[in-house]
Amino acid sequence: MIDNSLVVLNSLSGKKEPFEPLNPGYVGMYVCGPTVYSNIHLGNCRTFISFDLIYRYLKHLGYKVRYVRNITDAGHLENDEDVGEDRIAKKARIEKIEPMEVVQLYTVDFHQILEKFNTLPPGIEPTATGHIIEQIELIKEILEAGFAYEVKGSVYFDVIKYNESHYYGKLSGRKIEELIHNTRSLNTQSDKKNPQDFALWKRAEPQHIMRWPSPWSDGFPGWHLECSAMSTKYLGSPFDIHGGGMDLKFPHHECEIAQTQAIHNHPPVKYWLHANMLTLNGKKMAKSTGNNVLPIDIFTGNNDRFRKPYSPQVIRFFMLQAHYTSILDISQEALDSSEKGYQRLMEALGQLSKVIPGKKAGDFDSDKWLKKCYTAMDDDFNSPLLIAQLFEAVKFINLILHKDHPIDKSQWETLTKMSAVFVHDVLGIAPEEKSSDTKENTLNKTISLLIELRNSARANKDFATSDRIRDQLLEYGIQLKDGKKGTQFKLN
Ligand SMILES: [Zn+2]
Repeated sequence: MIDNSLVVLNSLSGKKEPFEPLNPGYVGMYVCGPTVYSNIHLGNCRTFISFDLIYRYLKHLGYKVRYVRNITDAGHLENDEDVGEDRIAKKARIEKIEPMEVVQLYTVDFHQILEKFNTLPPGIEPTATGHIIEQIELIKEILEAGFAYEVKGSVYFDVIKYNESHYYGKLSGRKIEELIHNTRSLNTQSDKKNPQDFALWKRAEPQHIMRWPSPWSDGFPGWHLECSAMSTKYLGSPFDIHGGGMDLKFPHHECEIAQTQAIHNHPPVKYWLHANMLTLNGKKMAKSTGNNVLPIDIFTGNNDRFRKPYSPQVIRFFMLQAHYTSILDISQEALDSSEKGYQRLMEALGQLSKVIPGKKAGDFDSDKWLKKCYTAMDDDFNSPLLIAQLFEAVKFINLILHKDHPIDKSQWETLTKMSAVFVHDVLGIAPEEKSSDTKENTLNKTISLLIELRNSARANKDFATSDRIRDQLLEYGIQLKDGKKGTQFKLN
């Protein structure tokens, strides 16, 4: 039996609630995955790292977790108001490749980046295009229940009608009157009865390439529908946890609730969890404003935001130093301090295995410490509090190492075993050696050093040395290029 003191912040009630899964011992968790039309950005990574922490801790507590995270490969339009081009079709048009090539390219990128961050893969990773039949069936059921209508081959969810018997807005706290007021001026050319209605099925225009036959038209499903169809298919209804980024609360998650509630007449999800956003230098990260950095460019140092590269493990550690529901700002200073913290923690843990415990106990209550670690994580997965406890352990380990402080066998065993469990299994922090990026970082640093030496040789008019560095590097396949921004290098 699982010792259960876990409480989670349920976005539905806005309160922390005791975590009691619908079937004791089992947890069904669905997390909205990416729309694979571009490289995954760092803010998305934070969401997936947050739910990786949650997944890992639930598993650690002994739950059998079925973790489903989808890939959106159709139906997500540029604008959340059901207008604009399909994001994947647009990218395919611009790049002159097939939509499924876009999907493949960015799905691979998504997996590779998340693997570098040491996140565990979900148990099931369904795609929207792989579940068109299920989505069509769901639309039929919603139509039958009387909460949707068809206009010229498109099917829309009737929000006003739904709201007569249910509460549309219960997750986001929005009121239907405000929504009506705010959307009145938009979509004047739409076929919708009311502007706040949302598409379940859209008839495809002749130029739209991502299209499937349906009873209403050749078209494609609305974005909100896939998550209702796939979560219900793999987790049943209701299920335990639905997660996603804070920005998905409205309209995406609100619409998901309405779709399932409309046919099952009960709420689809027990606990809604939302991960907060990541800002860069105090501002929202967005491609459109240029306030953006790709994960891979941080790992390699190839960006103009940070003066050096940071490993995926340091960035993961940095993210876990904040609670997943708080806004987190990434900056040079913050990453530098996380890097130091990460190294201090890993070094202390590495040294601990070399300590030989004695008979005398030191003044560190390891049982009490362990309890505090669990208390931290049981309080809505409070990783910053857990990390604070890990640093308490680091302090004690350093006392043992440097001041001949005693530690007995039982203290040593608890500390060695449980600090590793919390760092590696629960926080999912891997030692840096495991990562291939570390080698890349080391290479980058070494070349930067050689460039510096070459520059100072040139400044001293020691051209024999500066040419030797350049020529020798070229022989090793590293080409130096002098330009306005200084010397850059490229691996041939
Ligand atoms: Zn979703």
